[in-house]
Amino acid sequence: MAPSLSPIRSHHVAVIGAGAAGLVAARELRREGHSVVVFERQKQVGGTWIYTDHIEPDPLSVDPTRSVVHSSVYGSLRTNLPRECMGYRDYPFVVRSGVSESRDPRRFPSHSEVLAYLQDFAKEFAIEEMVRFETAVLKVAPAVESEGIGKWRVESTKNEKTVLRDEIYDAVVVCNGHYIEPRLAEIPGISSWPGKEMHSHNYRIPEPFRDQVVVLIGNSASADDISRDIARVAKEVHVACRSNEADTFIKRPGYSNLWMHSMIESVHEDGSVVFQNGKTIMVDVIMHCTEYKYHFPFLETNGNVTVDDNRVGPLYKDVFPPAFAPWLSFIGIPWKVVPFPMFELQSKWIAGVLSGRIPLPSKEDMIMEIKTLYATLEAQGIAKRYTHQMGISQFEYNNWLASQCGCSETEEWRKEMYLTTGVRKRTHPETYRDEWDDHHLVSQAYQDFSLYA
Ligand code: FAD
Repeated sequence: MAPSLSPIRSHHVAVIGAGAAGLVAARELRREGHSVVVFERQKQVGGTWIYTDHIEPDPLSVDPTRSVVHSSVYGSLRTNLPRECMGYRDYPFVVRSGVSESRDPRRFPSHSEVLAYLQDFAKEFAIEEMVRFETAVLKVAPAVESEGIGKWRVESTKNEKTVLRDEIYDAVVVCNGHYIEPRLAEIPGISSWPGKEMHSHNYRIPEPFRDQVVVLIGNSASADDISRDIARVAKEVHVACRSNEADTFIKRPGYSNLWMHSMIESVHEDGSVVFQNGKTIMVDVIMHCTEYKYHFPFLETNGNVTVDDNRVGPLYKDVFPPAFAPWLSFIGIPWKVVPFPMFELQSKWIAGVLSGRIPLPSKEDMIMEIKTLYATLEAQGIAKRYTHQMGISQFEYNNWLASQCGCSETEEWRKEMYLTTGVRKRTHPETYRDEWDDHHLVSQAYQDFSLYA
């Protein structure tokens, strides 16, 4: 074990971002006795759940000088997790009585309901008083270490250009969100293809696709939702997917104009798109629904933290880079997870480690564990970009975090609900948000929630 930071100490901590991760980080850090400043470049809390009609001028979002629109949420978006499963553990995402009629009581509600829930959370725990709104962090870099405390220089601005403040913090917790910097599929022939290309980050409503032939690339929840959304108005919608067998060509039931294909093989100057299954069609728009890259444009670590083929590393337990632990940490790196309760546990762990209440292993032991993980992934033939994918293993990870923090493990109903929803999403993609049969899990959830009422 590394020397404990005891006696328990309070630190001055900067949190970057006031989305679901930054909000709960701020709450847990303050609960632990730290002083907290949250930097948020938008005007309000909620991060990606702040829907906007605006899209970026560059539809592929590749121009590094573009003005960034943070949200990737589209107009018709409803959650892909049931609200009971999705909420923070001790602030359940329930329908609150006495709130306005504009709220959405559905079990899989719209994006506006999630935003309202996060606003409620911020209000309940008086988080906004810690937030500097419309303040973007431009640079985070190590400053001189003092008395064994890391120290970070944080430069921020109100107008995106000039540095307004240059401050020193003991610790920085990075919660900047990971759905901003699009990944694109590589398509042979794309430079001479005359159609329109875009990323789903810039999709909002179906209307611009009326009477068009559209190809979506990807098998994410977004590709699934958006293909159905667009099929209501488009002439044809074709979904191309790398993970499909090469001969895949399936008409989606319930639609006269929606097909599933294997991946695109090539595109051509005459506007045609050729799929691996041998089909050729003339296409107006290609939409990349191909996920995002981790991106920390403000972070300067002299190469101690890198993003390599979408692996952020080295990170101990997806949170602490050993070179700077515990003075630099990341919340929300794992994907294919139930995010909010995981953010909550990561936040509790960071807060307790910073105060010295929870010990960390030595730097050498953290590095050793990370090396072992990388070697295991390599031996299993898992590409670097899947390092942070969790799925079912998230529950073991959460339980480990809970054991460090002295909290109870993930509720059995939450785990089962996540798994059951996953199955229904695959078998009943059209209806899983409105029909379900896990009523017993819902009642168990509400029994637990009564503890927090
Ligand atoms: P964000 O919500 O992105 O917040 C990051 C914040 O950091 C933003 O407010 C941003 O303005 C701020 N920021 C960034 N850089 C800076 C800077 N330099 N200076 C100052 N501030 C900065 N999750 C679910 O649980 N259920 C769902 O159904 C679901 N559906 C989703 C659908 C879509 C289309 C997407 C994109 C995501 C979905 N998610 C869903 C995942 C969702 O991203 C997480 O639930 C969660 O909201 C992420 O929170 P976050 O705080 O990590 O990031």
